Amino acid sequence: MGVANQRSIAMSCIESFLKRGGWDVIFTVQNDKARSKVQKIIEQQQLGSRTRHMHGTEGGQGGKILGGFVCDVSDKRSTELFFRESLPEILQAEESNLQAVIHSIAFAPDLRKPLLETSREAFLEAHEISAYSLIQVARESMPFLGRAGQGTVEGYDDCTSCSSITTLSYLGANRAIPGYHAMGPAKASLESIVRGLALELGQHRNTNASNDTIVRVNAVRAGPIPTISSKGGIAGFERMRDDVKQKAPLGNITASQVATTVYHVAAEASGMTGQTIDVDGGYSAVGGPIP
Ligand code: NAD
Repeated sequence: MGVANQRSIAMSCIESFLKRGGWDVIFTVQNDKARSKVQKIIEQQQLGSRTRHMHGTEGGQGGKILGGFVCDVSDKRSTELFFRESLPEILQAEESNLQAVIHSIAFAPDLRKPLLETSREAFLEAHEISAYSLIQVARESMPFLGRAGQGTVEGYDDCTSCSSITTLSYLGANRAIPGYHAMGPAKASLESIVRGLALELGQHRNTNASNDTIVRVNAVRAGPIPTISSKGGIAGFERMRDDVKQKAPLGNITASQVATTVYHVAAEASGMTGQTIDVDGGYSAVGGPIP
């Protein structure tokens, strides 16, 4: 969820799942305008052709894109239309369920204003879209996530059979990063929600016991990547990249590298839930003067 254009981390996630083989993808965009743009990019790149095997890795089976839908998480009607009409319809047609949900959505109005000047409205909107939406997405996804008897509980050790929700975060959740302003507290809230949902959707506390679904919930923290939101929204974004370039053991990372980890966390990391993983070239692991 959260594809805006070819630079979006969500777009790299689509590519990552398709090329691994065996995964079909449903993506969401914020509005109709974005849908046409994304659809065009997907066609141009011949992503997710309905012909299987196209993107298969060695010995694997390529996936296909089942559809792209509008889901504006700030709009109740739009969210319900996607989760309660479009999604069930497509899953029913495919006789399938959801195995992984990737939440790659964030927005903060007036992000260029320092915290001290952030209005209550702007603060709340940043939290609603960038953090609360994960709760909303998790709740609406639950009826469609893999169930016991379909490999979810009995096959818990089989990494590919455990369903998951994975979101995107940033180091600004627990460090004050210049320019990140109101998004810092929103990401802190998001990461806290990840832990809370991991508890509620895990084996012992699952309040949705009626369908015995166990869901892993994790966050991947990406280093600064030039996308429409980051470049356009964060003051001093290029300076963030320069700093990572100088200090991180691996330098700046790409959306494709983040998507590889998102795939691993969502599809393979069977024993992991409630965690936040950094994919930032090692930036968060080091400190002190540049060697
Ligand atoms: P992006 O602009 O490509 O993606 C952000 C998406 O959020 C867009 O598709 C936008 O339409 C969507 N969105 C905003 N408001 C929405 C709403 N009301 N309803 C539905 N969707 C809405 O930028 P990105 O960098 O790919 O961002 C994806 C995620 O990665 C975000 O959570 C972002 O905070 C996170 N992230 C990005 C970076 C970076 O440097 N690019 C670093 C760390 C984390």
